[in-house]
Amino acid sequence: MFAYGPVPSRRLGKSIGVSPIPAKTCSYSCIYCQLGRTNQLQIKRESFFPKKNIFHDIQKVIKGNSADYITFVGDGEPTLCKDLGWLIDKCKNNFDIPIAVITNGSLLFQAEVRKDLQNADVVMPTIDAGTDDIFRKINRAHKNINFDEMIQGIVDFREEFTGKIWAEVMLVKDVNDSEKTLKNIKWQLDKINPDKIYITTPVRPPAEKWVTPPKPEKILYAQTILNNTFNIIDRENGDFGVTNFANASEALYEISSRHPLREEQAMKIERKFSQQGTLKKMLNNGELIKYNYQNIFYIFPKKFKTS
Ligand code: SF4
Repeated sequence: MFAYGPVPSRRLGKSIGVSPIPAKTCSYSCIYCQLGRTNQLQIKRESFFPKKNIFHDIQKVIKGNSADYITFVGDGEPTLCKDLGWLIDKCKNNFDIPIAVITNGSLLFQAEVRKDLQNADVVMPTIDAGTDDIFRKINRAHKNINFDEMIQGIVDFREEFTGKIWAEVMLVKDVNDSEKTLKNIKWQLDKINPDKIYITTPVRPPAEKWVTPPKPEKILYAQTILNNTFNIIDRENGDFGVTNFANASEALYEISSRHPLREEQAMKIERKFSQQGTLKKMLNNGELIKYNYQNIFYIFPKKFKTS
């Protein structure tokens, strides 16, 4: 299933998610990734799946659902999909819904990737570091990604792109929340000149269990240094669309593969179907696991590799 939702998004409202790449295929293996450690670390772009099948899935999910955005997000890095430009253009020509792309920005140094994103409405690149050492520590990028080249790619994209750029900075306690590190991030952000800067913190179980959000006073401090930011440190609320799932087990598995679910969200999804007791069964047979992070229980597939 390539398209799903709508899912509630803290920045994009009701969002139809599209993942045009295989699970956990990424150019980074971020310490905070909610999908666990990266299985396939790569920078080579590919047509992983037939593009027409992906578009057909988007059509199916959009039918009968309203949404604020179609969001290319991927169970990893969506710009690794060679057909992304074709898919964005197809969506623009067929639906009256704005397109967002959530990307780590690592491949924007390639002109063909910048061209692929030209017709999106919003592009949301990640800037968690201002220097190579912190970049390696937090994003654990593929060895062939050069930090300066990556930043320059986003700067070049800013010059060419007429849509909105909303940069995201994920703050992790004792990794990128010091004054020096924040000033370095600010220096890079100033070069990019995004339309908005979002500060986020890990709210779902991270790939490395020692990863935690900074204390609230540190987040406020980061806000003053980065200047003009929006905080999205609260948990998202709202309903998950389930009309395209055949049954509760498919809905729980597919949604939690992209969005680890708080226990009450998983139960709410189950209640939308006639058969009850599915969540318990899936936890008992090990398909899904329950994981405590920051005193909240999350449900996600056992296949996620966390420390
Ligand atoms: S957080 Fe995003 S960029 Fe980082 S490893 Fe996960 S999918 Fe890749």
